[in-house]
Amino acid sequence: MAKAVYPGTFDPITFGHIDLLKRAAKIFDHVIVAVAHNSTKNPLFTMEERVILARKTLKNHHNISVIGFDNLLVDFTKEHDADVILRGLRAVSDFEYEFQLAGMNRNLAPDIETIFFTTAEQYAYLSSSLVKEVARLGGNISNFVPKQVIAEMNLKLG
Ligand code: ADP
Repeated sequence: MAKAVYPGTFDPITFGHIDLLKRAAKIFDHVIVAVAHNSTKNPLFTMEERVILARKTLKNHHNISVIGFDNLLVDFTKEHDADVILRGLRAVSDFEYEFQLAGMNRNLAPDIETIFFTTAEQYAYLSSSLVKEVARLGGNISNFVPKQVIAEMNLKLG
């Protein structure tokens, strides 16, 4: 049993992320959701807002915590005494980028292992960016994100 870091932008957290986390929380002693500052992605929510939303959503899971970060992922992982990085794979299109990222992280920190979880098939098409697009155009996002997230998205998008 080990401690794992699940990094991402989480702009916002979706049922796809949550499903993966619930499965990971059964396997690892502790899972840290590491919310990347990621200003290059021009997120809808600030890092602090994304952290709060993820915390509200995951508050009933005793072995999952949520922390924001703005440094190198492998440094963050070591600072928190974790030895595993978790990532999700939805489709073949995710693979190339994830493969590069895992290779780079192994090069930077050979003791940290990246482990992939495949998506639950009902969330294979689900991404934070699509949810934002649907919400911006007034579509119903209740099948994709928790209630707390819908309320905050409505506030943000007017
Ligand atoms: P990033 O900007 O780092 O890709 P995301 O917040 O979009 O951050 O995603 C974080 C991780 O969760 C990534 O590994 C991504 O592939 C995975 N992920 C996102 N959506 C899903 C989903 N619906 N099912 C499984 N994994 C997912």
